[in-house]
Amino acid sequence: MPTAFGNANEPIQHLVKVFVPSLSITEQKLWQIQQRVPFKLRYRSIDSVLVSVTTTALPQFTALIRQEFARSTTTILDSQPLSKMSDVNYYVLDTSLLPDLSEHTNLVDTLDSGRVVLVRANDSDVIGLPVHFRAKLPPEILVGARAPRLIKLTFQPNIELEQIIANISPQPWRQIIQTMTLNPDVSTPGYQFLSRYALRVRRAIQHDGQPEPDSACDNSGEWIAKQFQKLGLVVGMDSFQHTRSQIGAGKIGTYTMNNIVATRPGRGPNRDQFYLLVAHYDSISSKTKGWQQQWRTMPAPGASDNASGVAILLEVARLVRNLDLDYSIRFIAFSGEELFLYGSKHYCHQIKSETADLSADQIIGVLNFDLIGHDQDGNLDIHVVYDERSQWLANAFKTVNQKYEFPLDLRLQYNPSFIYSDHSPFWEIGIPAVLLSEESSFESTESIEYIHSQADNMDKITDSLGELAVKLAVATTVELAANNNSYVPKAREKEISKLLWNVILFPNPVNLDQGESLSLDYFLSEQSKVEINLYNNNGWSIHNQTYRIGKIGGKKGRNSAFRWNGKMGNGQLVAGGVYTLQLTALARSGTSETTYLPVALVR
Ligand SMILES: [Zn+2]
Repeated sequence: MPTAFGNANEPIQHLVKVFVPSLSITEQKLWQIQQRVPFKLRYRSIDSVLVSVTTTALPQFTALIRQEFARSTTTILDSQPLSKMSDVNYYVLDTSLLPDLSEHTNLVDTLDSGRVVLVRANDSDVIGLPVHFRAKLPPEILVGARAPRLIKLTFQPNIELEQIIANISPQPWRQIIQTMTLNPDVSTPGYQFLSRYALRVRRAIQHDGQPEPDSACDNSGEWIAKQFQKLGLVVGMDSFQHTRSQIGAGKIGTYTMNNIVATRPGRGPNRDQFYLLVAHYDSISSKTKGWQQQWRTMPAPGASDNASGVAILLEVARLVRNLDLDYSIRFIAFSGEELFLYGSKHYCHQIKSETADLSADQIIGVLNFDLIGHDQDGNLDIHVVYDERSQWLANAFKTVNQKYEFPLDLRLQYNPSFIYSDHSPFWEIGIPAVLLSEESSFESTESIEYIHSQADNMDKITDSLGELAVKLAVATTVELAANNNSYVPKAREKEISKLLWNVILFPNPVNLDQGESLSLDYFLSEQSKVEINLYNNNGWSIHNQTYRIGKIGGKKGRNSAFRWNGKMGNGQLVAGGVYTLQLTALARSGTSETTYLPVALVR
């Protein structure tokens, strides 16, 4: 029966707890159940999982759980209209420091044998609570071989690290940003470039008769290289050429840019394995009037975007220099990011070549810091954007943030469509990478007003955010690179062999009456034939689409061609309700993979 939205028959989303008094909730079984009935896994602990299920799916879900897990119980903890779900937040709180939360919050349940409680609350109600740790329940955790489990907190103090963290102040970080925005000439004291625009390089050929640029960007790269050298790191330049063309006018110019690559070898059995800490150092003022004509001389301070990120790299390198770490760390300051990720694209291209000094499978994870210096609203929020393969890295940041009790509002965002920084070329080749940023959406106005303009200067830099960002980066880097850490998922090799990953449907729910259309993004590790089918509750296909192998929609890497406006073949809009999208990829090698995603159509 088609269900209408916005009235008493509106679909209900239930928050359901499945409790099994043993250790028998396996990812494999959950994965199998999810192939048959749509639900969202939101939390898992030793003996229970929390899921979101719609009323339609609930009977089948309950039956399958009972069938798969002996002695299990399912309890509906809370029910909300589907359309309200985005406004309803649940928090997981460790209450060992505060036994009675009932007067502050809306207690939903206790978990982990009473040590942890679940509350329904507004963000503002929870932020001030003096609890040991808190975590917002994510909208969905991916199940099964597709993602490692939530990391449990371990409280083994690292005394050395705690001392380092206690002594971190924002001043050195601010000083680096200050120097980078001024960009004083390394070879001619007294002169400042005031810009790090990626085309301002020494090795430039103008094909269009315009004057050759100065070396402002080279100068900044050389200064960064020198800072890493002073800290005792091995520093190299990874150079690449970029040619600009204009429709009608042909080639404009050819420019040679440099990525700065600094390596700190590990000292343990995993020293041939690397974590990469990356940030772009180039800047742009394309939103300031006259930029197109005057980029050769116009200031582009790029304080928050992204001197702030480079300053985090340099601070991490300085603060951990005397620690013994198992894994190796490589710091990379990329150029060409603002022209659309040329430095990181080049780097990812060359790690796949024979001559690369580091191969893709030596890179465990990539931490990308971009735009992390400004906090407009005083929330002290840092966003961690991750994809399917880097959820464990995002979780590591969350765990560290809780363990060291940083007063940061860390917001984990699963969004493989957010490709606007140097993490995304790593996503394309299957390397786990996360972005840390003051923002993770172009809809928010917190940063959007000043970035890429001359207003991105020192008065945008927020010391309190910088201090916490440096602390979080230092602590997480050390925790990840230390010996015997519990963060790296064992299943990583298996994940890399997956054909289909980073599947995301958006917006979901999709409001057809407001003219929204449904988009689908996915990544393929091989060229594939791709088939998409949308089924109603009766199992009837109401829309389908096929993409040919290697063509649009079937390419290796990210694919984002699918759009659907909710109309069937005869032009009629389909009824509102919950549907299932089936996505199948079939590679030439014969490998195939299918995934199912629930989607709510609102009318
Ligand atoms: Zn940036």
